Amino acid sequence: EQLANQIAAGEVVERPASVVKELVENAIDAKSTQIDIYLEEAGLKKIQIVDNGEGIAAEDVSQAFKRHATSKIYNQADLFRIRTLGFRGEALPSIASVSKVTVETSSEGEVSGTRLVLVGGKMERHEKAALRRGTKITVEQLFFNTPARLKYVKTIQTELANIGDIVNRLALSHPSIAFRLFHEGNQMLRTSGNGELRQTIAGVYGVQTTKKMRSIEAKDLDFTIRGYVSLPEVTRASRNYISTIINGRYIKNFVLNKAITQAYGSKLMVGRFPIAIIEIEMDPLLVDVNVHPTKQEVRLSKEAELVTLLKQSISEALREENL
Ligand code: ADP
Ligand code: MG
Repeated sequence: EQLANQIAAGEVVERPASVVKELVENAIDAKSTQIDIYLEEAGLKKIQIVDNGEGIAAEDVSQAFKRHATSKIYNQADLFRIRTLGFRGEALPSIASVSKVTVETSSEGEVSGTRLVLVGGKMERHEKAALRRGTKITVEQLFFNTPARLKYVKTIQTELANIGDIVNRLALSHPSIAFRLFHEGNQMLRTSGNGELRQTIAGVYGVQTTKKMRSIEAKDLDFTIRGYVSLPEVTRASRNYISTIINGRYIKNFVLNKAITQAYGSKLMVGRFPIAIIEIEMDPLLVDVNVHPTKQEVRLSKEAELVTLLKQSISEALREENL
């Protein structure tokens, strides 16, 4: 029961970026290797996600839009052990209740696909459709029936920046998936999906920036750290370019972010931050995700040990440059 409440508190369809995040996470969970995102008006008019994942079987499609209809996992500790990003079974019904959703999907072995159209959560159409590999989900007229939420939506530029930030992080934490992001037909992001973190970073931050990044590597009994950090001359005016990924999941942790910046010491100008993509593997039991409903903020056991290891690995990478 408590778990159910914690789960319900995680309700997160506040803005276009949260819709994109939930839908892309579903595509990732479905083992897609290619995920394409098409936006109009920063998602307010249209968000379309096309994946090549496992799809949803005809008999399960309408069920997926019912509350708590997760096909995934059941408790908090499982969260960092099992690699699915979703677990609440809330995203699809929540999104559908505040927009017009069209889903076209089919799963392996089926002879035809399924198309579902829901408006404001109400099923308008449920029919056979052409067979396709994976799922195509289209969200239109977001918040058309919830003017209160529309009020919180910021400018197109701000909403688009938020979406870009989230898709970047999802791409950086999944180098084996090829991502493409388009806004009004213009390509904003493309990653190769060949499994190489370095190439994914190049797709997100550009080849020139990536050339000015150095790899880090460290391991002790509890943690394995891998990733890339920028040279001190390549900095940004915000922490948004620091991505920390624990067991395949992008997380937020103030202490780790601070440690990364501190590792640069006086090489960093005030108000400037490095670009860093840090992958950490650890026993899921050392991660407490029960901090915030978005599952992004985590508390770590042995945090001090991790901080020391992280700082060491970054200073080493920078020292090799004889800076
Ligand atoms: P959750 O991700 O927490 O399980 P969602 O409401 O996001 O809940 O999705 C409900 C279910 O719909 C998922 O558990 C999954 O079975 C199915 N689903 C949603 N999107 C996709 C997709 N792109 N490909 C395959 N299955 C999907
Ligand atoms: Mg989900």
